Amino acid sequence: MSLDSRLLEILACPSCKGDLVYFEAHERLLCRACPLLFRVDDDIPVMLIDEAESLDAAALDAWEEQARALGLL
Ligand SMILES: [Zn+2]
Repeated sequence: MSLDSRLLEILACPSCKGDLVYFEAHERLLCRACPLLFRVDDDIPVMLIDEAESLDAAALDAWEEQARALGLL
């Protein structure tokens, strides 16, 4: 399961319009600025702020650490 790279390029956070980090294995898209975590259901990004998981500082740290480990940052 992976998102089309062209789709990824045009995807932006619906809240701040910022770039997203795509965690393919977790089917999640992270906005580090907000910070919000969006689901990807069957390759369909759920870009709804109401549906997104709001992250606290510790949760954001954990995701960013994982992103660095995966070479996404
Ligand atoms: Zn954002």
